[in-house]
This record gives sequence, structure tokens and C-alpha cells, in this order.
Amino acid sequence: PADLFAPERINSAGVEFGDRASLERLTDAVAAARGPAEAAPVIDGAAQAGTARDGLSPSDARTIVGTVVEATPDTAASAMLAARKGALAWGKVPAEQRAAALERAADAMEASRGRLIHLLQAEAGKTLDDAVAELREAVDFCRYYAAQGRRLFGAPQSLPGPTGESNRLSLRSRGVFVAISPWNFPLAIFVGQVAAALMAGNAVVAKPAEQTPLIAAEAVRLLHRAGIAPGALHLVPGDGAVGAALVAHRDVAGVVFTGSTEVARHINRALAAKDGPIVPLIAETGGINAMLVDATALPEQVADDVVTSAFRSAGQRCSALRLLLVQEDVADTVIRMVAGAARELRLGDPRDPATHIGPVIDAEARARLDRHGAALRRSAKTHYAGEVPGEGHFVAPQIYEIAGPEALTEEVFGPILHVARFHAADLDRVLDAIEASGYGLTLGVHSRIDATVERVVSRLSTGNVYVNRNMIGAVVGVQPFGGHGLSGTGPKAGGPHYLTRFATEQTVTINT
Ligand code: NAP
Repeated sequence: PADLFAPERINSAGVEFGDRASLERLTDAVAAARGPAEAAPVIDGAAQAGTARDGLSPSDARTIVGTVVEATPDTAASAMLAARKGALAWGKVPAEQRAAALERAADAMEASRGRLIHLLQAEAGKTLDDAVAELREAVDFCRYYAAQGRRLFGAPQSLPGPTGESNRLSLRSRGVFVAISPWNFPLAIFVGQVAAALMAGNAVVAKPAEQTPLIAAEAVRLLHRAGIAPGALHLVPGDGAVGAALVAHRDVAGVVFTGSTEVARHINRALAAKDGPIVPLIAETGGINAMLVDATALPEQVADDVVTSAFRSAGQRCSALRLLLVQEDVADTVIRMVAGAARELRLGDPRDPATHIGPVIDAEARARLDRHGAALRRSAKTHYAGEVPGEGHFVAPQIYEIAGPEALTEEVFGPILHVARFHAADLDRVLDAIEASGYGLTLGVHSRIDATVERVVSRLSTGNVYVNRNMIGAVVGVQPFGGHGLSGTGPKAGGPHYLTRFATEQTVTINT
């Protein structure tokens, strides 16, 4: 039932940032938990030896966060072999025990919040509020999938049939799932993928992003300690080649992937090229996310919501606003107010609670965004381009006016907002252009006319639509999250149907 996971009952508690004592307790816990971290391939619970490299901080390349031993394609093959054996045993563990282990892991993550937040800040450059939100999301995924899993995997469902016949439907594990995650939610997405696959009774070989293995290694330690069998969860830190080796392995029974559309295509092709069973891909990818603002919107609220959606987390959210479409009548006012609000944002050390925007993930991301900004400064009208502080990989918020929605053809993964104007009479054309991009992840609408909101919502098939608010921060069990088309295969993480994608279904009909 929909009320299975009422937010007031299960969502992880937040931190009252306005309350000095709570904030101090949090920052003290984070400070006390600093110290070197380690990541290495973990197979059957044992860390594997190898050549170590430094894990660096995106805020300051001189800061070493920990040491990382990366997996090779050979290690990946050993992990797959161990997972194949582990899947047989884990698939037989009763759903109740699998759920209880995930719930203990959720409790352990909350208890280790200082350490996890430290790593999110040091390795991924997360601001304090982002790090807290991400930890809560990881905890929520564990509890939510545990609650859903008890219901779905606990007992077969009886189905009606004619007299003299009994029918039942049960969900069963698939085998070995390969879980490949991105760096932008290195804890929440890593844990969410793993928790869902494990709850469905699969063994998992997890490959975190190259940039964020230390956080993943800490999560795996907590999951194992909480009772996830060593044979059921294996970690292979490494680069894209390691991911490709896992996907190509003959024993893979399913792949759950979050990342770029381009890599999702690679994986899809690799799976399709293999002999043997047809392997499902659960892909959650990017978007060219638009927000439509009409002349009835409240400009102050729009400015606040645009800045939050486009620039917080340095724009490194798949849900972030990329394309602001403003009705001509209010465009000058709205753009001026958005630029004014952007000017107020503070960039810098993510450990400082007053910082709004931390660094982008690495030098490559910064160079790519700098090139995009420079090209737009030549070809488009610049409404705002902020200053960059310090030594780290910082990119300041930028606002450029482009000719129309068609002019933005790819996801720009950072704090760069593209703005275009439209006339009220052209709304349908604008909606067509959004749909024609092929992406369908998030959409914002600011209008006080209900009929306009309904017209937009019914015309577009975007996965997550936010009306008269910002368009980021989907909450587990409250706003199931995910898109389709170029944005993915349509799974809704944190939603009631997600776990079924990790399972097979069996119908048994008995003539009684
Ligand atoms: P990415 O470059 O696609 O990488 C994602 C993961 O795939 C990484 O672990 C990467 O390893 C691995 N990989 C790369 N090539 C591979 C291959 N050939 N085979 C198998 N695995 C391979 O994405 P990213 O830069 O980490 O993350 C940003 C993207 O994720 C954005 O497009 C964003 O919109 C999307 N995203 C979507 C959602 C959602 O829920 N829809 C959520 C968050 C992020 P390496 O790290 O070693 O390259």
C-alpha cells in the first residue's frame, strides 16, 4: 500500500542548521571523524592487495583523503566468480533477514554520520547541507527497500482462479547484479543500487566511480558489519574499463547503472552483443532539465528556486535545472532577479557551513565547463558570470541567454544556466522542443494558472515534475525519482515498483 512508508514514520531525521547547538554537534562529529581512509577491492569480505594511489580532494589537490587500491579486469573476474557462489546462498536467506540487515546498516550509517559526512566533503567536495541530505537519502533507501522487500519477497501472492485451481505469484532473485554508480551521489546512489539488488536476493559486484571509491568502501564495511553476507557483496573500485569487464562477464544476470547517457548506451550495446540469457539493464541517466516560467509566476520565488535548482551542489545533480524558459513579458525582471540571487551565493571550502557551493569534481570537469562558458561568452548574452576562489576545481555560477530551447543540445553538468525567452502564443512550440530533446528527467513549472500547469504536465512525459518550487532533492518514498528516453530505462528509485526490476517473477498454477 502507498502508506507503507509514510515519511513522518521512516525518513531519516535532518539537522536543524539554524540551531547553533545542533550545528556544532554535527561539525564536532565531522571534525572528530577526520583521518585517512582506505579503499581496495573487497572479495568475500577480504581486502585485496595491489598498487596504491592517493585519493585526492576536489577542493584542494594537495589534500590526500586516503589511499586507493584499484581493481584490474582480473580482480573483476574473481569478484564475479565469488558473487556467483554467493548468490546461491544469499538468494535463500529469508526476505525478513535481508530486510533486517539493511535496517541495521541504515542505523549504522546514522551512527557513523561524522565519518560519512567527512568523506563526502573531503572526497566529493559536498557542502555540509548536501552531505547531510545525501546521508539521509542513503539511510532512507535501506529502510524503504527493506520495508518494500518484506512485502514483495516475504510470501507469494495468491491470485484468483476458477474452482479447482490455485494460482500464486512470487518474486525471485536473478543472480549476480553488477552495480555501477557515479561520483555525484557517491553514497546515496551507491547504497541505493546495492540495497535494492541485495533486498531482491541478488549478490552484487559494485563498481563506484573512479573519483569516489573511499566513500563506497566505507559503506561496504558498514553493510558487511550489519549482516550482509561477505559472499553477497563485493567491491571493485576502478575505472570505466573495470565496469566494462564486469558488464561483459558471462555470469552477469542484471546491471544497475546510474551515470551518463553515453555510458548507458555502451553498456546496452555490450549486453546486447553477449551470447546467453538476455540481461536487463536498469539505467538512470542525465537530462536537459527545463523550467517554464509564465507571466503569473512570483518573481521572488522563481529567483530563489532557479538559483537552488541550477547552482546548488555546483549544478552537479542529474535533476539540476539547465534551461530556464521565461515568458517574454516578465523575462527582464526574472533574469535580473535570478542574477542578483546568484551573486549572493558563496563559493568555497565545503567544510565551512556558510558555503553554498563547493568545487566541481575534478580538473577535467572544470576544464569542460570552462570551455563551455567561454564559448557561450562569445556566442550568447552573458547575464552573470561569477568569480572563482582558491586553488581547487571551482566553477562559479554563470547565466547565458541563448536563442531558444533547441540551442541547448547536450547536458552541461555544472553551474551553468541557459536562459531563453518565449511568447505566450508560442507555448506549444516550446513544449514540443522540450519533448523533442528526447530527455525526460525533471521539469519545473512556475505559474499560478492551474490550466497552464495541467496543459504542460499532460503534454510532457517528464519523469519528475515540480510545480511552483525548486526541482531538486527528491525524497525516498515521497517523490520516486527517475526518467526515460535519453534519461534512462524508466526506473523510479525510492518508489514502490523499483525492487521488482531486480527480480524475476514466477506464477504457479496448481490443479487441486
Ligand atoms: P559516467 O561517466 O557515465 O560514469 C558512471 C559510471 O560508469 C562510473 O562508475 C564510470 O566509471 C562507469 N563507466 C564508464 N565507462 C564505462 C563502461 N564502458 N562500462 C561500464 N561502466 C563504465 O557518469 P558520471 O560522470 O560519473 O556521472 C554524471 C552523470 O550521471 C550525469 O550525466 C548525470 O546526469 C548522471 N546521473 C543520473 C542520475 C539519475 O538518477 N538519473 C543520478 C545521478 C547522476 P569511471 O568513474 O571510472 O569513469
